[in-house]
Amino acid sequence: MSLFSTFQPPISYSEPLFRPPAEANSLIFQVSYGCPHNSCKFCMMYKDCQYKVREKEALFKEINAVADYYQYTPKAVKRIFLADGDVMNLPTKHLVEILELLNEKFLNLSRIGIYANASSINKKSDEELKKLRHLKLTTLYTGLESGTQFILDNVAKGETVEENITAIQRAQSFNFKCSVMVLLGLGGQKFSEQHALATAEALNKMQPRILSALRYIGVAQSPHQKLYDDYSEVSESEALRELYLLLKNLDLNQTVFSANHSSNPLPIQGRLPKDKNNLLAQIKMSLDNNLYRHEKPFFYQL
Ligand code: SF4
Repeated sequence: MSLFSTFQPPISYSEPLFRPPAEANSLIFQVSYGCPHNSCKFCMMYKDCQYKVREKEALFKEINAVADYYQYTPKAVKRIFLADGDVMNLPTKHLVEILELLNEKFLNLSRIGIYANASSINKKSDEELKKLRHLKLTTLYTGLESGTQFILDNVAKGETVEENITAIQRAQSFNFKCSVMVLLGLGGQKFSEQHALATAEALNKMQPRILSALRYIGVAQSPHQKLYDDYSEVSESEALRELYLLLKNLDLNQTVFSANHSSNPLPIQGRLPKDKNNLLAQIKMSLDNNLYRHEKPFFYQL
């Protein structure tokens, strides 16, 4: 190890820290800690964390120090992710000040990403969304989870399917790139078909640029082992059948699709609509020949 490789940018993180897989190469600043909602029964991400907006002075001091660290390699920082949960929930004035400083300090910056709940997107006016987008806030990671309202209610999502559709349509009309996540198995065995069909219908209205299908697996020692009355977890083959039904009913014009998270029994990805038939064939072949992972992963996190 060289002497230089031991130097790290002067950033301090407070655990837990999460970022989407696509932000693996992004510089991360924590602008808040935890999730302002923290109610979704299927999500353990911030359950032990009290939500708090980070103090502005400390955050700005850190951004300035990191910019100084990169002053001789200004091309190093092209992408930034702002954590933690639902950063869109921050007051617009505060978010704008953060984005302005990042734009001023990182001249090669091309995109900034955040987790953004639909309700928080919808609270922003058109002018506010335009302003945020102008300041290189580019990618919004949003969880639809299910297109079935009673499932969203059962898992305490605290949002409606309609407001999710509106949020993505509005954000994309201002040129945000929206990455939408859905959760296979959230309807359990009983509502699997309904969940797949209604979720496909909602996604068709949204037309997200990026779509990820993960599989819900009850987290060990969680107090929410049973998500809701009537819920029974789907098996690996049932999750794959649900994915098949979802994909078959998707009518998307221009979407990068992935179901390759560690929770998925069969990792697949492609571009829709171009690869739809190929992806369906892969799922069918794997079901017909029992070629998929038959056990739950030891651990996974949304
Ligand atoms: S799914 Fe998102 S909004 Fe719900 S508790 Fe987890 S981080 Fe918060």
